[in-house]
Order: sequence, then structure tokens, then C-alpha cells
Amino acid sequence: MHINLLYGIGRITASICHIFLQMNLFEFIIIVLSAFLIDFDIFFSKFAKDHNHRNLFTHSIWPGCIILILGIIFFNLLLIICGVSLLIHVSIDTLDWGTNLFYTGKTIGLKCLISPEEYKNIDEILPNYKVAHSFFIFRYYNNNGCRVAEISVFILMILTTLFLASEFWYFIPIYFFFLGIHLYEYKKLKEIENR
Ligand SMILES: [Zn+2]
Repeated sequence: MHINLLYGIGRITASICHIFLQMNLFEFIIIVLSAFLIDFDIFFSKFAKDHNHRNLFTHSIWPGCIILILGIIFFNLLLIICGVSLLIHVSIDTLDWGTNLFYTGKTIGLKCLISPEEYKNIDEILPNYKVAHSFFIFRYYNNNGCRVAEISVFILMILTTLFLASEFWYFIPIYFFFLGIHLYEYKKLKEIENR
């Protein structure tokens, strides 16, 4: 899923936890970060199978499990929440395109944005686009499930921030920064493909 949506989920998680744990700014930021940080493995895509960052170790369940187990061993609630948050991220990523969940080299997930036939014949589909990435971006924004998820997470993020963690409202603009990057990318790709 897109990074703005994961940031939103991070804020929702952190805001709910804040009600029970009265977190400080550092703890709040760490939980939000844990929701989307692994997507920066995209800068290491060249080391991944098929140059897909979701095939990297970071997009398997193992980093989340390791952090979760460390949290349990050291009785550290913050680590436990971050571990769960990492696991939520990779679980969500199984819904749209799937991810190398167990780091076995196999892409696992519902893969709602691509049919099994398309998945098999992806090498024949992508050359139909001037930029291969267009296929993935267009599928995402043309999918009703993704649109509903984007809107629902945004609304929930605003509500949970307002009612549960209003003192941490001021870095909500980061959401719009990430959303802006994705929408700009969508607009650019549309222009390129329509040329
Ligand atoms: Zn991801």
C-alpha cells in the first residue's frame, strides 16, 4: 500500500496506544515511524529479486517478529507495539500486490490488484506501458478498494488525532507530503502514457 496510507495507520495505532499509555513525543514518533519505515527499502530495490523492494528481507514477517520477541524478552511495551506495527505493514502489503512474506522467495498474499493470469503474464503486460511503473500506479488508484481504504484511513487518522492525541497534531502535514508524492507521480505517469 502507499506510504501515506501506512503513515495514517501508524498515526491511528499511536493515537489509540496514547490513550492507554500516555506516551511522550519520542514514543509517539517511534510508533508512527514503525508503520512505514520499511518502505524506504525501496532505495535498495536494485538488490532485490526482480528489483522489487517487497522481495527484500525487510518486507518479510521476520523483522517484525524479531522486534516483537525482543520486546517480550525485555518487557518493553514500545518494542512490542513497534513489532506489531511492522507486522501490520507487511500484512497490509499482502492485500494489494503481495510480499515475500516468509522470505522464501515466494510472493504471498491476496494480490487484489492483479489476477493470477496477469501475474503469470506480467512480462507481456508491462511492455504495453511507456513506463512499467504506470501499470501498478494506475491499478492502485483505479481500484475502488484502494480508494475506500485511502479515504477511510484519512478520516480515521484525523478523528483519532483529534479525539485521542490532539497534542501531536502538528506533524499531520507529513501525510499530505507523502500523498502529494504519490499523486504527483500518478499525474506525471498519466501525462507520459497519454502522450
Ligand atoms: Zn510496504
